[in-house]
Amino acid sequence: MYRIGIGYDVHRFSENRKLILGGVDIPYKFGLAGHSDADVLIHAICDSILGALGKEDIGSYFPDTDEKYKNVPGISLLKEVIAILRADAYEIVNIDCVVICERPKLSHFISEMKKNISTCLEIDETQIGIKATTTEGLGFAGREEGIASKSIALIKHV
Ligand code: ZN
Repeated sequence: MYRIGIGYDVHRFSENRKLILGGVDIPYKFGLAGHSDADVLIHAICDSILGALGKEDIGSYFPDTDEKYKNVPGISLLKEVIAILRADAYEIVNIDCVVICERPKLSHFISEMKKNISTCLEIDETQIGIKATTTEGLGFAGREEGIASKSIALIKHV
């Protein structure tokens, strides 16, 4: 039995924060604001997996009011989500996602993101797609106010 889920997340740019995407520390003048490390890509992936399972979203599992999750790495949250997936006897078939921002350019970091995420999920790198796109100057991403990410996950009962 197969199930599919979608995830979407946005974080605004903030000064004096690291920019972490897909667990990669990306050199840039801004980071993303958030209670956790604000890894918008991983948050979207977590929500796509939870959505496929018919569970509540990442915010209900890891509330931003909980001190335990202050600056918590996205990769750690993803590990917890995978434990939830396995507890329900599902496995990942594939994940596809997109990061939406005008800047910085992310193409050089995609392979490292894939490596981090596939290692965390214990899947092959060919089971995950990551793209980066701009909005050609339109909307909040185009105005460089923040970064959005979308993810879709297909899971299979084992
Ligand atoms: Zn988030």
